[in-house]
Amino acid sequence: MQQQEVLKQYFGYDRFRPGQEELINAILQGQDVLGIMPTGAGKSVCYQVPALVLSGITLVISPLISLMMDQVKALNQAGIHAAYINSSLTEGQVSKALQLAGEGRYKIIYAAPERLETNSFMNFALNAPISMVTVDEAHCISQWGQDFRPSYLKIVKFINSLPRRPIVSAFTATATAVVKDDICCVLGLRSPKVLITGFDRENLYFEVRHIRKKDMEVLNYVKDHSGESGIIYCATRKNVDNLCAFLEEMGMPSTKYHAGLSSDERKRNQEDFLYDVKPVMVATNAFGMGIDKSNVRYVIHYNMSQSLENYYQEAGRAGRDGEASECILLYSPQDVMIHQFLIDNKGENQEYTREEAESVKENDMARLRAMTGYCTTKKCLRQYILHYFGEFDDNRSTCGNCSNCLTEYEETDVTDIAADILQCVRECGQRYGMNVIVGVLRGENKAKLRSYGLTEMSCFGLHKDMPEEKLKNIINEMIAEQYLFMTKDKYMLLKLGKASSEVLSGQCRVVIKCLPEQKTQEPEPGRAGSRRQRVSDILTSAGLELFDRLKKTRLEIAREQAIPPYIVFSDKTLLELCAKAPSSKTEMLQVAGVGEVKYERYGERFLEVIRQFRQEENRPLCFEDHKLTVSSETKLTKRKQEFVLTEEIREQLHFTEKMTLSDLVGQINDLRDERIYKRLTGKAVMQKLIQNGMIKEIYRNGIWQKKIMEAGSRFGIFLEKHVSEKGAEYEVLLYSEKAQKSIVDKLSGEWRNLMSEKSEV
Ligand code: ADP
Ligand code: ZN
Repeated sequence: MQQQEVLKQYFGYDRFRPGQEELINAILQGQDVLGIMPTGAGKSVCYQVPALVLSGITLVISPLISLMMDQVKALNQAGIHAAYINSSLTEGQVSKALQLAGEGRYKIIYAAPERLETNSFMNFALNAPISMVTVDEAHCISQWGQDFRPSYLKIVKFINSLPRRPIVSAFTATATAVVKDDICCVLGLRSPKVLITGFDRENLYFEVRHIRKKDMEVLNYVKDHSGESGIIYCATRKNVDNLCAFLEEMGMPSTKYHAGLSSDERKRNQEDFLYDVKPVMVATNAFGMGIDKSNVRYVIHYNMSQSLENYYQEAGRAGRDGEASECILLYSPQDVMIHQFLIDNKGENQEYTREEAESVKENDMARLRAMTGYCTTKKCLRQYILHYFGEFDDNRSTCGNCSNCLTEYEETDVTDIAADILQCVRECGQRYGMNVIVGVLRGENKAKLRSYGLTEMSCFGLHKDMPEEKLKNIINEMIAEQYLFMTKDKYMLLKLGKASSEVLSGQCRVVIKCLPEQKTQEPEPGRAGSRRQRVSDILTSAGLELFDRLKKTRLEIAREQAIPPYIVFSDKTLLELCAKAPSSKTEMLQVAGVGEVKYERYGERFLEVIRQFRQEENRPLCFEDHKLTVSSETKLTKRKQEFVLTEEIREQLHFTEKMTLSDLVGQINDLRDERIYKRLTGKAVMQKLIQNGMIKEIYRNGIWQKKIMEAGSRFGIFLEKHVSEKGAEYEVLLYSEKAQKSIVDKLSGEWRNLMSEKSEV
């Protein structure tokens, strides 16, 4: 059978995703491969399809028992004979499995790396026609990666001892350049085809929230998204226990997972989550490896992770089905301290020499710094991540789908404060870290400062009234702009950076981005909800009823077979079943995710539910304008188009007497088809208004302010004075109805290409 047919018949998919076919073709031509693809890109298909086309057995080395079990269950459901051999089996079961394997019963066999050394396994391997060895989570072989597993080194010896060298294919989601080279080299790949598909997960929205009251924040979010599946990661077991109890108390069905629970409880809780009994999972990072729940709609990090590798992997568990999902990190500076402490006190690892241990620690610190940078940057979060993983795209500095791209920051000139900070660092001899410097500037009465003699410094108390957070914020920005730098050891001392003299001599100004005064630090709850499409945007109320019935049927089948529901069919498949309401086998096989075997197993049961429903009910099931079939798959493969103001949007727009620009832009964005178009940004519109001489930016009282020019007043732009909660006065730019309409006219006329113009510069 050809690869295309295998994909359709066993997996129910019509076409390969980017990268899959290239890797598969290489394998089928006998070439070694290394596939580096983000979570959810579909790595498994890359070795499972060739495994079925090749004549012999494919052996998959995988580090995690739960992952193997899940994969094997899914394969068997699809009608592919597969087995796993790991420590969850008894001796008797192992020899039985090996015996059947020897008789050629299985096309695909999963094994843990430790297994490769055992006599019984070796015995089997020497006598079996192994055509391919696949190394999953291949980064575990590299000492430079963070999940180094010495047992992975055994794979090489194993391959070399086989009578005939099989094709070797390796896959991973996280690999920096060093790790990539390491995999090729250590695994001994022979002129491999290395394929790196983009790390970008377009369907994920990224956000960092600087938040103190995290429990309430999580509660509001979970409430807003009730019925949806989500994971909340916490740094400690205690946090997990507390947060889970709190959510349960507030009536949100939640469960938890961490290494402190008994294995029975872990198993039960995990199943509650997988089976959608409890849609919210609160967990430490012990949870998730090998969990392939495809309909996780959000991942919240209650605490910052220790590295971006971890963060991206954990956050990446959202939206594996390609549907829009959200990754939100709740940041507080304490998280940095906790990780710092953990790195400093990392238990001795007998496997490492002292030198190795030192270098591991240094690497850990560098990773922590990069993670902290993610939480404090004002630049595009997606670009920050991609950059970290070595993907550069100079043409795209913004993505339009992360909190930084969607926030209009105000620029504030802080040159004077910056100069004082530099002065202070210099006066204190460049021998202290951020907390001490901030303490000195704020004139804190602390024994520590007195004992260092710092209370005598001339800059002591120079900024008594400035909040600690704000000073730290400015310092972080100054580090990012290289006015200051932080030493890379554990002391993290602040020193003057390359560009500092320019500030001290008054040659350049320091401008930082911050949230405008009138916006509170904490984004209003519910804002996130409007951004993406829900099932209810696609299905009518009748469609939703059918969706519920199909879900019930899925759960019944899942229970009977003791497998998680998503292994039966994904949510996306159910959605498509509702929208298309197939009435025959042929029609049902058109639905993505329905293969021959699954159809034979339970296709009829779903068809019956649909038929039954159609007899009772003939209202339409989905909204006409939703072309469901093209939605998710195209989303993964194609970048969205630049924003265009369509006739449809114009017709539905609602003008009022006065409105802010961001409200107008927000309304426009809500009306656009977000599966096809990128967002319009307020920034781009403002740029045009400035270019057209309606607004001018002037520098006054130490900050950049917007001034309305005569042309602007005529256009219908005006200022209104407001007073903030804290009593501070500020001015808001407002747009009259006439101005609103003119902007819309221009957006469909002369400013038509506004967004693409912008991305070209
Ligand atoms: P990874 O291992 O890279 O994280 P998986 O192999 O688990 O990703 O695949 C993620 C999801 O994408 C699975 O639900 C899988 O069935 C689906 N998938 C894989 N390839 C295709 C394809 N060609 N078309 C549609 N869906 C696919
Ligand atoms: Zn962005």
